[in-house]
Amino acid sequence: MGSVVEGIFWNEYKLVDIDSEGTEKYHCKHCNTTYVKNVTRFQNHLENYMNYQKIQYTKQ
Ligand SMILES: [Zn+2]
Repeated sequence: MGSVVEGIFWNEYKLVDIDSEGTEKYHCKHCNTTYVKNVTRFQNHLENYMNYQKIQYTKQ
């Protein structure tokens, strides 16, 4: 995709665990939740978060 999201993506998610099958688990800073790696889902999640931030910012 090459969007801005990709650039900051891995700053927002932190690798916390890899299980015996090699499944990577990432912790999301924003909702304090650990997810199995799914880049598409992570990007959507982060885009939603950024849109939310933008709305908050515009309101001020
Ligand atoms: Zn999150």
